[in-house]
Amino acid sequence: MTNTTQGNCTEGGSVGPIRQAVLVINCGSSSVKFALIDTASSEPLITGLVECLNSADAELSWKVDGQKASKALPDADLVAGLSEVIAVLPADAEVVAVGHRVVHGAEEFSGSVMLCDKVMGALERCSTLAPLHNPANIEGIRASQKVFPGLPQVGVFDTAFHQTLPPHAYLYPVPYEWYTDLGVRRYGFHGTSHRYVAEETTRRLGKDMSDLSIVIAHLGNGCSACAIEGGQSVDTTMGLSPLEGLVMGTRSGDIDPALHEFISKAKGWSLERIMTALNKESGLLGISGQSNDMRTLVNAMDEGNERAALAIEVFAYRLAKSILGLTAALTKLDAIVFTGGIGENSHKVRAKTLAHMRVLGVQIDPELNAQNGDAATGCITKEGTLPCLVVATNEELMIARETLNVTQS
Ligand code: AMP
Repeated sequence: MTNTTQGNCTEGGSVGPIRQAVLVINCGSSSVKFALIDTASSEPLITGLVECLNSADAELSWKVDGQKASKALPDADLVAGLSEVIAVLPADAEVVAVGHRVVHGAEEFSGSVMLCDKVMGALERCSTLAPLHNPANIEGIRASQKVFPGLPQVGVFDTAFHQTLPPHAYLYPVPYEWYTDLGVRRYGFHGTSHRYVAEETTRRLGKDMSDLSIVIAHLGNGCSACAIEGGQSVDTTMGLSPLEGLVMGTRSGDIDPALHEFISKAKGWSLERIMTALNKESGLLGISGQSNDMRTLVNAMDEGNERAALAIEVFAYRLAKSILGLTAALTKLDAIVFTGGIGENSHKVRAKTLAHMRVLGVQIDPELNAQNGDAATGCITKEGTLPCLVVATNEELMIARETLNVTQS
């Protein structure tokens, strides 16, 4: 990494222009994902992961120009881990800013912000709503401020894109004081991905964002769907937490809230134990009893495994039901878009989901679907029927773009 914008000679003697880049950081409780995005080409110059922090197994792994490498960092903490990241950044890259993925911005943040002291205070307040995620994000920001002093640091929130939801979409039918006093409402997540995919869909369909009404299904380990009208999120499936909504890898998504009391009495479980089951032992894993990984389940289904097939069937049916439900938020439906690891790669899941949407007259094109969409548009449906698209998400690029927007405004 260089600190200068002038020079074009690296120590190793290679000559080339300095490439300005934004470092995108996603901090979890014991890991940090990072990507250095070239501001000119929008391509990642390096991607990587520091995992198992504060343990003997701590390790930094990275990928540059398709080549993978790793380095053991026994007992490294966050600051030590990030310092090692600097050492592997390409020598001809100048980091101009750091963009942080922050999970929960509550109602405090409807856009990305420079991470000054005042903002950090607001972030701490949001932690009560995301106790599993925000403290790790905050710790990552503080470590990054130490390791990259003087560089602008920007927070990009998973929730911010959904701050345009109208009250009838974000309020729960519970005592109103829970909202006013405690902030209990739908916030929605995956906002960075939904926004990126909406912009990309606009480009692919040759439309104007102000005239686009779509539903996006982001299907990864976590899954959420979002209705977008005129470039704004108008409803989404995740809620106060990322547990609500669609069936996910290990998360249940929507269930009857009376289940908590029923299971507590039937099994003598504490609330914490039940929440662990709903977050970590449910979803695809819970129904199949085998795996949270869609690839594994599709293979098992193909080999005749009934529980795997059932898990996929529930996943697809509930997804279709949610997508159809979200159309209530739109004035028209221009397209349904699939993204995320499952959405981008599993033609079987897409086909099963769309088979539950006969009411929309969707007609899948099996050939286009099998190749994960038309090369130019990503379309997987027959001409003349509702366009359904596969669009690869790129949250790192969106965070880098947002970071630059904030630093340049
Ligand atoms: P993500 O969190 O976006 O990386 O997505 C992870 C999910 O995508 C996992 O459930 C993977 O099994 C799934 N996935 C990735 N590739 C495929 C594939 N070719 N077919 C089915 N599922 C896939």
